[in-house]
Amino acid sequence: MTYQQTATAVADTDSIKTVGVIGAGQMGNGIAHVCALSGLAVRMSDVNEDVLARARATIAKNMDRQIARGKISETDKKAAIGRLVTGTSFDMFADCDLVIEAAAENEAVKKQIYAKLCPVLKPECHLASNTSSISITRLGASTDRPAKFMGMHFMNPVPVMALVELIRGIATGEETFSLVRTMVVRMGKTPVNAEDFPAFIVNRVLLPMINEAVYTLYEGVGSVISIDTAMRLGANHPMGPLELADFIGLDVCLSVMQVLHDGLADTKYRPCPLLVKYVEAGWLGRKTGRGFYDYSGEKPVPTR
Ligand code: NAD
Repeated sequence: MTYQQTATAVADTDSIKTVGVIGAGQMGNGIAHVCALSGLAVRMSDVNEDVLARARATIAKNMDRQIARGKISETDKKAAIGRLVTGTSFDMFADCDLVIEAAAENEAVKKQIYAKLCPVLKPECHLASNTSSISITRLGASTDRPAKFMGMHFMNPVPVMALVELIRGIATGEETFSLVRTMVVRMGKTPVNAEDFPAFIVNRVLLPMINEAVYTLYEGVGSVISIDTAMRLGANHPMGPLELADFIGLDVCLSVMQVLHDGLADTKYRPCPLLVKYVEAGWLGRKTGRGFYDYSGEKPVPTR
């Protein structure tokens, strides 16, 4: 499906200079990191100073890693950190050209943020959400600027991963889309356009594969090790699907499958009962020390 582009929608590709980031968690600090390194002025907010202090330390540590690998210089780091301002008040977003919301994956929380944020923004400011699953059209409709609202789906970890999925809601204007696309390219990332369907492209393809790997385990076709080895060596994947599921978090995997199942109403997206059981048990993968592997020892040990 394609959307018609209008002749009037020619963007001034230089107009994004100051970017706001809402949420300084895993994704927010990565987004602030790459924006600041690409020369943009960045304002990042979160609910309290402790989270912001942790985010600033993570950014500095991740930039040190890039220096050690010869990707950036000490001077680049110093300049980027100098372009980053953090705070808990939305007032600092008043002069932003674009604000990227990367707060918790909860529709009510995101809508509350937009309700408080929009009155502060200048009318020409664009707004993007890093949501992995919530409808961009519905989020945009809750703001005062649906034509300036779109999805900007970064991958984790942001400084390392090359892709950004760009998602148009039904009301997203061409100017916003083209400005954001240009900015993403300038950040050294590769944009891919996706329409506003559940889980967009990467998660729509990746998560059913992971879910199928869990079915393969559930039905006894193979053990954890056989399934992961088969997919690493047989399909040339850098990580096996069960190892990858533990890395992503089994709760996140389940929630994406539920979004696909509910949103597309097709039984092929039915979450595997074994995945549901693991999540019910609190076995969520690396973050809880146990998923398809047990991480309590020196080396991960398969649990089945
Ligand atoms: P996270 O929990 O690490 O961070 C979310 C941050 O938002 C927290 O620090 C929280 O304090 C903050 N926050 C909540 N309410 C706020 C408010 N009112 N104002 C300011 N900050 C607020 O979550 P994350 O993994 O960084 O995910 C953020 C978004 O990115 C979600 O929409 C998620 O679906 C999406 N995403 C996540 C991944 C991933 O792999 N983790 C990948 C792509 C997209």
